[in-house]
Amino acid sequence: MQSLQQEAPLHMPPIAVGELGIVRVVDCIEHFNPRIILRDVGYEHLEPHLDWLRPNFLDEQHKLLMPIQSFVFRTRHHTVLIDTCVGNDKRSGFRQWNQRSSAFLDSLRAAGFPPKSIDFVFCTHLHVDHAGWNTRLVDGRWVPTFPNARYLFRREEYTHWEAHPEEVFRWTFDESIHPVLEAGQVDWVGADFQVDDQLTLEPTPGHTPGHTSVHLASAGQEAVITGDLIVHPVEVAEPQWGQVSDYDHALAVATRTRFLDAYTDRDVLILGSHFADPTGVRIVDTPRGRRVRW
Ligand SMILES: [Zn+2]
Repeated sequence: MQSLQQEAPLHMPPIAVGELGIVRVVDCIEHFNPRIILRDVGYEHLEPHLDWLRPNFLDEQHKLLMPIQSFVFRTRHHTVLIDTCVGNDKRSGFRQWNQRSSAFLDSLRAAGFPPKSIDFVFCTHLHVDHAGWNTRLVDGRWVPTFPNARYLFRREEYTHWEAHPEEVFRWTFDESIHPVLEAGQVDWVGADFQVDDQLTLEPTPGHTPGHTSVHLASAGQEAVITGDLIVHPVEVAEPQWGQVSDYDHALAVATRTRFLDAYTDRDVLILGSHFADPTGVRIVDTPRGRRVRW
C-alpha cells in the first residue's frame, strides 16, 4: 500500500448546490488494491469497467484511487463539517494511517474554515477514516479539534462500536469519540434531525449499523453525501459487490441497491466521500448499465 501524503494544503474549489458551496478538504489520497476494499474483487473484475473508471477513479496500475476527504459548507446560519478523515497521531490498523501527520487543518484554514468557525460536525459513520479529526493531540491529551462545534452522533452507531471488542475500534473510540463526549460537545440526533431545512439526514445502514447519508437542498437543487454507502464509483455499476469492512453485507447491498434505484436519472448530485475528482456525480442508466456522469 502506498499513501500519497500531500506536502501542501489541499482543498478544492466549491461545488455548487443551489446557494451552498460545498468545499472538499483532502486529508490523504489512497491507491488501494481492490481486494483491500471490496470483498472478493480483484483487478480482473475491474476489466469490464476500465473504459469509464479511468483515469478519474483508477490509477495507472488500476488501483482504486480514493481520497479521504471532508465536506465543509455554510448553510443559512451554520457552518457544517461532514466526516473528519483520519486525523494526526492516531493509532490505526492501516499502517499508513498510524501515527501520521497531515496538513488537513491548514487545508481547512486555507479554504476559509478555521476550526473555531465550525458549528456542527457530523460523521456518516464512526470508522477510523471518518472520525479522526474529531480530536487532536495537545500536550499528550486528546481534545476536540473544533472547540465551538456540536458533534452530532447517532445512538445506534455509537452503541454498536462502543461495545465492539476489536482493538482497532477501541483505539478510534478512545482517541476520537470519548474525548468529545467528555468535553460535553455531543448532541444525540435521530434520523429526523435537520439544520436550517437545507441539511437533512438519510439513514443508509449496512456498512455500519447507524451509517447515515446527508441530504442537502438549496434553491431547488439537491445533493447527497454518501459516506461509505458507495465507497467507489464502480459500485454504481456493481452494487452487489460487498466491502471488506461491511458490518452487514446483505443489508449494505440492499441499501445501496435501493439508493441507486431511487437516485438514477435524477438531477441529484452524489458526493462520494471517497470519490476522486470530480467527486460530485450524477447516476445515469446506459445501455451497458448504470454509470456516473459529470
Ligand atoms: Zn471510509
